[in-house]
Amino acid sequence: MTDALYVRLKAYEGRAAAASGMGKDPVNEAMIRHWCEAMGDGNAAYAGPDAIAPPTMLQVWTMGGLSGHTDRGAAQVELFELLDGAGYTSVVATDCEQEYLRPLRPGDRITYDAVVESVSERKTTKLGTGYFITTRMDVRAEGEPVGTHRFRILRYTPRERKPKGRRPRPVINRDNAGFWEGVAEHRLLIQRCEGCGTLRFPWLPGCGFCGSPDWDTVEASGSGSVFSYVVVHHPPFPAFDPSFAVGLVELAEGVRIVSNVVGVPHDKVRIGMPVELEFTCVDGEFELPVFRAIQGGVG
Ligand code: ZN
Repeated sequence: MTDALYVRLKAYEGRAAAASGMGKDPVNEAMIRHWCEAMGDGNAAYAGPDAIAPPTMLQVWTMGGLSGHTDRGAAQVELFELLDGAGYTSVVATDCEQEYLRPLRPGDRITYDAVVESVSERKTTKLGTGYFITTRMDVRAEGEPVGTHRFRILRYTPRERKPKGRRPRPVINRDNAGFWEGVAEHRLLIQRCEGCGTLRFPWLPGCGFCGSPDWDTVEASGSGSVFSYVVVHHPPFPAFDPSFAVGLVELAEGVRIVSNVVGVPHDKVRIGMPVELEFTCVDGEFELPVFRAIQGGVG
């Protein structure tokens, strides 16, 4: 199958992406120091009177900063317009490769040229379908080659996201209807046996201790703590966005309830973490009790 767009994109291989670019600042100690601090790189070669710049800073000296580039070649602009026009409007940087020919030192003035090195055939990735574009930048200091920086991007059409599914509905029957009626009023009701006073949750028709079918309810105070939890990563389920934490929350009254722990990243949920009941409205249709981590609780 002929991909007419690919043929047109391929024609840009070898054309200039940037011509006679100039680094905005010469290689300098201040930028080297900031880089080393940000990277946590304490290599002695990057400080002192004979300092060299970290080789991996190569691209830094060519970057346009917030004020942007003024040297972008017409070919690159056209190439991106072609992709935009065909619906390949999203972009992600995928990888870069560098080669170093000699160390850079403070005072070196940087110039560079860049070419569109290659365009891939149309590929389908997890993000969507599109084309990988590899650009090669040849960097010089004082006119002498010091390295190359190759970077690859994917220009793609995002995959259509499936509409988010609806959360499963609770099964409400005569044994638990009172619980859901309470939730609708933002009250978390616990059953209490009228025979022996034992609290029970989830709701059941009779008492597991004394067998009495008679009960009334007490309203939970809303305080509790994480008794145990799991983090769900897989499989994905349409109504949920993994990863999320499912907690077994022990209420102050002593019974336990399975619910979501919210207000804290899933990987920060801990056993013993204090939580507070709140209610969340699902799909604009019904309420669910969830538990919010209390800030300043167990770290
Ligand atoms: Zn009982």
